[in-house]
Amino acid sequence: MARVVLVNDTFPVSPPRAWAEIDLGALQQNLTIARQTHGEALMAVVKAGAYGHGLEEIARALAAENIAFFGVANVGEARRIRSAGVETRIYLLGATWSEEREEIVARDWTPCISSIDEAVQFNRLAAACGKRLKVHLAVDTGMGRGGFVADRLPEKFAQLERLENLEIEGIGSHLPSADEDEEFTRRQFKQFHAIIQELGGAARFKWMHLSNSAGLLGYDPGLCNLSRPGLMLYGVSPLPGFQEKLATVMTLKSRVTLVRDLPAGHGISYGRQFVTTRPTRVATIGIGYGDGYPRHVSGKGADVWIRGRRLPILGRVTMDQMMVDVTAAEDVIEGDEVEIFGPNIPVAEIAAKADTVVWEIFTGITPRVLRCYRS
Ligand SMILES: *Cc1c(COP(=O)(O)O)cnc(C)c1O
Repeated sequence: MARVVLVNDTFPVSPPRAWAEIDLGALQQNLTIARQTHGEALMAVVKAGAYGHGLEEIARALAAENIAFFGVANVGEARRIRSAGVETRIYLLGATWSEEREEIVARDWTPCISSIDEAVQFNRLAAACGKRLKVHLAVDTGMGRGGFVADRLPEKFAQLERLENLEIEGIGSHLPSADEDEEFTRRQFKQFHAIIQELGGAARFKWMHLSNSAGLLGYDPGLCNLSRPGLMLYGVSPLPGFQEKLATVMTLKSRVTLVRDLPAGHGISYGRQFVTTRPTRVATIGIGYGDGYPRHVSGKGADVWIRGRRLPILGRVTMDQMMVDVTAAEDVIEGDEVEIFGPNIPVAEIAAKADTVVWEIFTGITPRVLRCYRS
């Protein structure tokens, strides 16, 4: 049996019950697709531990790819990228705490600015260091999460431009429904372009960015010369019709820990919501919601993949284990590898059955799940 072997000094091995195989070659392929679709300049979004794929490893894998920025959620993630020896510029996607700004200035990370107050503090800190800090102007064209609202923007922009130790090198906004509402999104692109024109035109900004993965795949970039893909780099398209172009990066795996024959009328798992109606061969699998597999798929007809077959999960997913009907697959034995999601079981299918989005499934994979990398 091919096992992922972890050696421990006292006892020989303790193979993990659940692990994620991460294909860095597939990541590079998806990056290439992003560039072919939009153009060279990309901000690779690596927030939340690179969507659960491992921040340091993904940042190192992309470091040589001439990425314009890494997009992170907070200063902690920025520090981890630098500690991993990666020098790519860092862009902070959300608001920063006032206490963090000294470090941001000192280390030349790039914040987005949503208020005059933030800008004034950054300007003062940059002056104290004797530098001009590059910042991006965030504008709110419909997301409602950050940025300046369009009202009286030229006036505020003029105020910002008077801050001598800030260089407003970019302007960005965000798309709340590029994968749900095409008409609204088209209007947003138009509004963003109009704002750029109003603030001095495309020549005024080195970087203009609006698109996440769905924006990049589904819309004409117009004036935008930078996009901020996250999900598509990890192999999942938020828009239908593009999935075939992308390569699977993460395959979540586990193993069969037990195979047992249960009689008809036997309950399976908590709440006994599933009861066998015939003699049933049941495999117990070593993964559960404690690993981040969504308990919400219980009873929704989700499958796993064992020995080339789709096989259904029975009853509720428990914390560390779940049960699968292997009656139709007599060759399944203890120790068999199980694909929980990956090339054969699309993660989008699991997300839909759990009534959530792929972003949440990826970022919900817990630290107990060993990440293994292949290049
Ligand atoms: C997370 C995020 C992205 C990436 O979105 P995907 O849909 O994963 O491509 C882009 N821009 C901002 C501001 C984000 O917060």
